[in-house]
Amino acid sequence: MGSVFDLIAFDGDDTLWHNERSYRDAREHFRSLLNRVGIELDVDQVEATVTRTEVANIRYFGYGVSSFTLSLIETAVDVTDGRVTSDELRSLVQLAKGMMNEEIEVFDGVRDTLATLSKSRPLMLITKGDLLHQASKLERSGLQDYFQHVEIVSDKTPSVYQRILSRYGIDPSRFLMIGNSLRSDILPVIELGGVAAYIPAALNWVHEHADAPAGAHDRFFELSSVAEVAGLVKRLEAMSSRASGLLESNDD
Ligand SMILES: [Mg+2]
Repeated sequence: MGSVFDLIAFDGDDTLWHNERSYRDAREHFRSLLNRVGIELDVDQVEATVTRTEVANIRYFGYGVSSFTLSLIETAVDVTDGRVTSDELRSLVQLAKGMMNEEIEVFDGVRDTLATLSKSRPLMLITKGDLLHQASKLERSGLQDYFQHVEIVSDKTPSVYQRILSRYGIDPSRFLMIGNSLRSDILPVIELGGVAAYIPAALNWVHEHADAPAGAHDRFFELSSVAEVAGLVKRLEAMSSRASGLLESNDD
C-alpha cells in the first residue's frame, strides 16, 4: 500500500488533551471576582469582554496563559474603573500559575492512534502558545515519545506552516494536519495545498471559529474523534494505491 503522507502533524490543545475548559473555569473565577466589586456580567458577557481584550493583545503577547492573564488584569482594571484591588489582581496571577501546573488529561483514543501512526511515518506536534507551558504540557501528557518533531509557534498562519514544511523538505500535498481549530489548524493548511482533518472539540474559544473551507472536498475531512484518524489515513492510502494501479494498467 502506497504511503500518501510524508508527515502527519497534530495540534495539541483540545485536539490531544483538554485545554479550553481550564480557560472557561478561569473566566468563571474572573466573573465572581468582578461580582465582588459590584460588576454583574453573565458568562457570555465575560467571554466577549475578555476575548476582545485578548484579541487586541495577540499582536503584543501572542497566545497562551501569560497573554490571557495580562488580558484579565487589563479587563479587570478597565471594567471596574480602577476599583479592583491589588489582592484581587494577585489572585489572577495565582490563577494563571495554577493553570500552568494543571494536570493534563489526554482524550480517549489518542495514545492508540499515535502509537499506530508513528510506526510507519514521522509525527509532528504543532502547537501555539507559551513555549515553556506547551513544552511542559507535552512532557506531562506522556505522549512525547510518539513525536519525532515538535514545533511550538507563536501563531499558525500559512507562512508559519510553509516555513515548517520547507525546513523539513515536505511537499504540502503530502502533509496531513489534524486539529480542532478551523482558523489555525485547517484553513492555512488547505490554503497551502495540504490535507487537513478537522475534529471539532466540545469547547472552543470563539476566536478560533471560522467557516469550513469551500471546494477542497478531497483535502478536507471532518472527524468526530482522534480515534478515526488512523482509519482516514488507511482509506486515503487505499484510494491512492488503487489510483496508481489504474495508471499502471493503462500503461500496458
Ligand atoms: Mg487546539
